Amino acid sequence: MEQKYDIIIIGAGPSGTVTGKLCASKGLKVLILEKRPEIGAPKRCAEGLGKPDLERIGYTGKERFVTQKIDGGILITPNGGTIDLPPGPGGYILERKVFDKFLAYDAAKAGAKIYTKAHVFDLIRVGGKIAGVRLMYNGEQKDVYCKIVVAADGVESKIARIAGLPSGNTPNTIESGYQYEMANIDIADPHKLYTYLGNEIAPRGYIWIFPKGSHIANVGIGIGNCNEKTAKYYLDKWIAGNPGMSKGSIIEENSGGIPIGGFLESMTTDNFLAIGDAAHQVNPLHGGGLAEVSFSAQIAVDVINDAIKSGDTSNSALDKYNKLWWEKRGKNLKKIEKIVHMLEKVTDSELNMAQSSLSGQDIIDLTEGKTHKLIRIMLKNPRLATLVKYLK
Ligand SMILES: Cc1cc2nc3c(=O)[nH]c(=O)nc-3n(C[C@H](O)[C@H](O)[C@H](O)COP(=O)(O)OP(=O)(O)OC[C@H]3O[C@@H](n4cnc5c(N)ncnc54)[C@H](O)[C@@H]3O)c2cc1C
Repeated sequence: MEQKYDIIIIGAGPSGTVTGKLCASKGLKVLILEKRPEIGAPKRCAEGLGKPDLERIGYTGKERFVTQKIDGGILITPNGGTIDLPPGPGGYILERKVFDKFLAYDAAKAGAKIYTKAHVFDLIRVGGKIAGVRLMYNGEQKDVYCKIVVAADGVESKIARIAGLPSGNTPNTIESGYQYEMANIDIADPHKLYTYLGNEIAPRGYIWIFPKGSHIANVGIGIGNCNEKTAKYYLDKWIAGNPGMSKGSIIEENSGGIPIGGFLESMTTDNFLAIGDAAHQVNPLHGGGLAEVSFSAQIAVDVINDAIKSGDTSNSALDKYNKLWWEKRGKNLKKIEKIVHMLEKVTDSELNMAQSSLSGQDIIDLTEGKTHKLIRIMLKNPRLATLVKYLK
């Protein structure tokens, strides 16, 4: 391992490798350090990604990491009512273990150097400013220096905290996720995403079925963190009550935290920035973070490239990343965070009303932060009208 790079990226998840690829394509000398022995494994994801988001990072959908095409979804309310979600531009269920490796292949092809089993445990400071990273690699401690460190170390990011950013999570800003990949289950339409709502089955969250084939799917749950029972408890209970699911076999089991807001005003400091789950860049309504990578990596790379080329990697130069991200993504994600906090106060019988009041397109609009229709409906109901204040 060489001792000096322009950029060191901590974490070879999608945020790290997409950022690494784009930086290397600009001619920067890039090092990506991944603590796990294998990139992409274990997966902590339901593997859903929209077509435009995949195209934005340079893929067509024909690559072998795509397992299933998706053309819409079904939302199931607590009383079993359904709302058809329109297909829009469509999307895919990926095989993350293959997808993450493709991203790494392409980062390496663009010139980034990647090491696995390289665990960064500290930042090096010179004159009080971040100047590199300290890691364990092959049982040895190493110091490697750079002009900018990028923390792409995921939801449990320790590095952003070491850098001084308030990136820790509170029960309000993270959900507990649990998921089985299941085979030999019944799926009515394997090209649709299924989302089950209800405080009984998934308090402050939802259950999903993301099909990877006719009889195989990621079946998972995300719940708010204030429950006595675990996410696994609720998921097992729901599966046990559904014969079309309980007859299946579990071929993989995953768990993980899902950031649902708590966006950072500033994701930078001198010679340092955070990206992806490490910076809470996730849609708080559905927990999807992959689409966000396709926006934030491009924003970060332009700012990093300008900073390195101008020789000014101070916080004030990198602050452009904060400004652009908040303008292009953050403002809207913050609105969506308000929707999430409002929905936490809605009862199951009020959720049931959604079936007669909201169309599938209205639901899609909500996931994009558009609340006008929802507010009109809420204002007609005395109790819901009192919740409108949470959306403003
Ligand atoms: C149950 C569940 C279901 C989900 N479903 C979806 C979905 O369907 N669609 C979607 O878009 N998003 C989904 N997400 C969210 C999505 O998985 C994340 O947003 C995405 O993986 C974030 O990418 P990232 O690169 O920021 O972080 P990660 O993918 O978490 O990558 C971080 C990497 O950093 C490495 N690392 C951490 N610390 C260090 C260190 N100190 N040194 C070196 N390496 C380190 C980790 O090993 C890891 O490889 C889901 C999440 C969960 C938990």
